[in-house]
Amino acid sequence: MHADLERVIALQRLDTEAAAARKKLADAPEREKAFDSRIESATQRIADAKAQLAANQEARRAIEKDIALHQGRLSKYRDQAMAVKTNQEYHAIQHEIAHAQGEIKKHEDAMLERMVETDDLTATIKAADAQLATEQKTIDADRKKAQVEDAELQKSLDALGAQRATIIAAIDPRVLATYEQGATRRQGIAVAEAKDGICTICHVRLRPQVFNDVRRNDGIVQCESCQRILYFVPAPASQSQAS
Ligand SMILES: [Zn+2]
Repeated sequence: MHADLERVIALQRLDTEAAAARKKLADAPEREKAFDSRIESATQRIADAKAQLAANQEARRAIEKDIALHQGRLSKYRDQAMAVKTNQEYHAIQHEIAHAQGEIKKHEDAMLERMVETDDLTATIKAADAQLATEQKTIDADRKKAQVEDAELQKSLDALGAQRATIIAAIDPRVLATYEQGATRRQGIAVAEAKDGICTICHVRLRPQVFNDVRRNDGIVQCESCQRILYFVPAPASQSQAS
């Protein structure tokens, strides 16, 4: 095979691998954002439950006050009941006593509901705390793993860069220019295999003369449609009959 054709094929392999590595490395900020938002939502769940618990405690204090108020009235009415002189007064005070007792009962029921709510919210906070701790642990491990992967990617990028420099030093500058131009215009893919008379990337059928030239692999031949540098992979001898 033509030495520069071999070099552009090698160059393409390096550049494709490097592009994939760069793309992965570029994902890092997005990945960090996803980690942060997982922590944020776990933290938010705790804050929400704590705010609900605070409201619950406040409601309980208000109910306690109400109960104390009605209990104070109740004992006042009971004192007054001792001193009533008429039947009418007696009935009126009994009515007040019954009302105060009703209020106390109502508030005690409400208090019971709030106490159940307190237990539920306390359990929710405990679960949310545990969830945050688990999430933090998982994320720490994921982050560590990603950082190791990133370091490896960076290392392979450096190695690819060094290999690229070696190839570039040896390649004909005009061939390199053709390659670079193709890579810029065609999303990084400047080299294409020609197979069965077709450019395998743009899928345009090559003129028979062009395909014959490509089959020899002894020079730089470009696809007339996409301008990519073409190469040919000969079929293994055993399969040449079948294909
Ligand atoms: Zn093409």
